Amino acid sequence: MKHILVRVFAIAGILFSSLGMAENLPLNEPMGGEPFGHSVKEIGNGLYVFRWWVYRNVFLVTDEGVIVTDPLNPKAADLLNEEIRKVTDKPVKYVVYSHNHHDHISGGNIFKQQGATFVAHENVLKELGDHPSAVVPVPDITFNDSYTVELGGRKMELQYFGPNHGESLVVMRLPEEKILFIVDIVTPRRVAFRTMPDFWPDEWIRSLKEIEAMDFDYVISAHGPANEPAIEKDTVVAEQRIYLQDLMAAVKAEFDKGTHSPDKLRKIVKLPKYKNWRSYNEWLPMNIERIWAYYHMAW
Ligand SMILES: [Zn+2]
Repeated sequence: MKHILVRVFAIAGILFSSLGMAENLPLNEPMGGEPFGHSVKEIGNGLYVFRWWVYRNVFLVTDEGVIVTDPLNPKAADLLNEEIRKVTDKPVKYVVYSHNHHDHISGGNIFKQQGATFVAHENVLKELGDHPSAVVPVPDITFNDSYTVELGGRKMELQYFGPNHGESLVVMRLPEEKILFIVDIVTPRRVAFRTMPDFWPDEWIRSLKEIEAMDFDYVISAHGPANEPAIEKDTVVAEQRIYLQDLMAAVKAEFDKGTHSPDKLRKIVKLPKYKNWRSYNEWLPMNIERIWAYYHMAW
């Protein structure tokens, strides 16, 4: 694996050095190479949450092997593999991708080498065809609506809700524990991510309503600071939906009064109900601009 990477980076190095950009691109360290820190939290019954920087995934240890979700990036995946080795000597049998975005699904080669089968929504395959990466193994099993990974008497159900954040995002459910692992579309007590890249506001709200109707008691979300609990009550899904509805309604109300300038909307629209949510001051104006685009361009 290592020699493949070295070769890829050598080629990329030649390419970019000819453009004079090599030093500026974090080719060897996909996330910039800083020591972001990581931790593992045992939830119980073989379920663990792995955190790297502000990213989280889950892994499930069974009698017959391990089911891993989003490997994140090569550096995080190495650490994840070390952490798995601390709790079991069983191999990683499955790697499940939450969606197509490379910041979540890079780094799986270390598990591919152990013979893991990669599972994802069928649109991930399409996306990787357009944006291939040497550090993102393509899925072996794909599906359209739903799929259940079964191993050692345990189950992980994968459910697709249509487009919301990209067109390949699946929600993972552990039916015995009634726990959902949700990536990017639910981040408790934080406004939406910056300008909401690849998020479609109306489809996002629709999906959250459908998720709320699922049978679950707890949510593990893929983003959050190190000092917050990894596992939350089911109500965080509705809270996320209500935030989006409030955001859209507030922008629409100002839009209907005749304020169509995104710069003005960013200054005028406030959502004081959410002032204690993370990134309120920094990202709310960006959220507003994304919703302006929705009403202005129907995008
Ligand atoms: Zn994403």
